[in-house]
Amino acid sequence: MIQSRSLPNINVNLSDVVKGKDLLGHQVGQKRVTKIVGTVPTPASDQLVVSALSYGSQSRPYTLSMVLQNIKFADTRTANCPIKISSSGKSIYCSQISMNTGTAQVRCTCQDFYFTWSHWNNKNKVLTGPSMPKYNRKTTNWPERNSAHVPGMCKHLIELTQKLKQLNIIRG
Ligand SMILES: [Zn+2]
Repeated sequence: MIQSRSLPNINVNLSDVVKGKDLLGHQVGQKRVTKIVGTVPTPASDQLVVSALSYGSQSRPYTLSMVLQNIKFADTRTANCPIKISSSGKSIYCSQISMNTGTAQVRCTCQDFYFTWSHWNNKNKVLTGPSMPKYNRKTTNWPERNSAHVPGMCKHLIELTQKLKQLNIIRG
């Protein structure tokens, strides 16, 4: 998931990315379960890599990734690093990330993410992983899915964000 590359200089924060969805008026539904399957601290790059699966009406779960940026880590709980993260049998403490000032790169395998968000997230450096194949619109009869050209999250990533808030990893 983490490639050797220079760290991204992201200038949209997490709340901007969540708001993309509101802006376009999509709803978060109720019939899904999004489960966090991994939280991997990567102190060398100040990142916390969160993986999740989202189960819904589709036959296979969608795979989600969220790479939280500028996270501080400590071996013991401190005022700046109050959140315990367990990974591979070891525990480490990390700082919280703020919705308003924190940044994250995101990805989901669902169609909505690909068609609506992947290009604009990539442009804003909030896409994690390789850029997705370019999508060429086949018709201009329908309005563009992301006519505001904003970065954003699909409903699965929004649910993951909510879960990370419940875990106090994200605040605000
Ligand atoms: Zn999705």
